[in-house]
Amino acid sequence: MSTTPEHVKCLIIGSGPAGYSAAIYAARADLKPLMIEGPLPGGQLTQTTEVDNYPGYPKGRSGPEMMEDLKQQALRFETDIRNGWVTKVDFSGPVHKVWVDDTKEIHADTVVISTGASAKWLGIPNEIRLRDIGGGVTACAVCDGFFYRGQNVVLVGAGDTACEEATYLAKLCPKVYMFVRKEEFRASKAMVHRVKNTPNIEVLFNTEVKDVLGDQTVTGILAVNNKTNEERTLEVTGLFVAIGHKPATDIFKDWLEMDEAGYLKHKPDSTHTNIPGVYVAGDAADKVYRQAITSAGTGCMAALDAERWLAAQGKH
Ligand SMILES: Cc1cc2nc3c(=O)[nH]c(=O)nc-3n(C[C@H](O)[C@H](O)[C@H](O)COP(=O)(O)OP(=O)(O)OC[C@H]3O[C@@H](n4cnc5c(N)ncnc54)[C@H](O)[C@@H]3O)c2cc1C
Repeated sequence: MSTTPEHVKCLIIGSGPAGYSAAIYAARADLKPLMIEGPLPGGQLTQTTEVDNYPGYPKGRSGPEMMEDLKQQALRFETDIRNGWVTKVDFSGPVHKVWVDDTKEIHADTVVISTGASAKWLGIPNEIRLRDIGGGVTACAVCDGFFYRGQNVVLVGAGDTACEEATYLAKLCPKVYMFVRKEEFRASKAMVHRVKNTPNIEVLFNTEVKDVLGDQTVTGILAVNNKTNEERTLEVTGLFVAIGHKPATDIFKDWLEMDEAGYLKHKPDSTHTNIPGVYVAGDAADKVYRQAITSAGTGCMAALDAERWLAAQGKH
């Protein structure tokens, strides 16, 4: 027995800061948005303790509480928020087809993609354990560097972002040990130059994390030289992992333009993808800033772009 697919004006995929901001704007424009929450309701911020840099919270807010605030704001304007995971899309026609949990088919005039990204980790058991309890393992220097002012830290990574993060941390921390797995950087010459000219960054080539020490918080890093097998313990209180992020965009690869890492492309000064009526917001398209506030900003832009496009089509 076939059922008629549900039709919506605006479908929002993902429930992080980008998705909720899009929902608030779309709902207040009377687009009656439907949001599919995805595998991580509330997005990445539900995995952190304190968020201190989102405007409007003078005393800071825990990540899960902040995302609940955003959810309540979206619900206040009657966003239809549902559990589920978008497993397939078909953007070949004027109506965009989306399948939730492989079964439910939804047709949408406009789609806002806000599926975010996730950091890559080293995969060491103590790294993951201490990350999960907020014990000094993180993947975001801009988010968490402030908590390590006056303390020594290790940063792992060799690309442009790693260099950027190392120099950011070097302004807050007396000593930044930078672990580079190979004997050279992957970063651009300009970034390497900046690192090499920052006196309190000590670059350790051919060096990897063997273990993360500490029970409730990081107390040290056991480092190993992968050429000589020589081990050394560094007394630090933080581990910053900067080995890349993976945007959650695999399901769109047959339809949307993306870069080699999977970040969705959009037209300049807008959130329009290459498919009319499909917009992207937040970390799924952003390998540069990756912040809650920038994601919220582009979520707002995506809803405004969707509303204007619908109006131009005479559909709203
Ligand atoms: C531990 C940690 C601490 C951080 N601290 C800060 C901080 O202090 N300040 C700050 O500004 N930023 C911080 N960040 C970064 C910030 O969380 C991100 O920049 C922001 O959450 C990105 O928002 P987003 O909406 O683009 O995506 P995300 O928050 O990544 O949300 C993506 C959403 O998409 C959904 N989704 C994915 N795939 C699908 C699918 N197939 N179908 C349906 N839904 C899907 C997920 O369920 C999720 O709800 C931190 C990140 C981490 C990991």
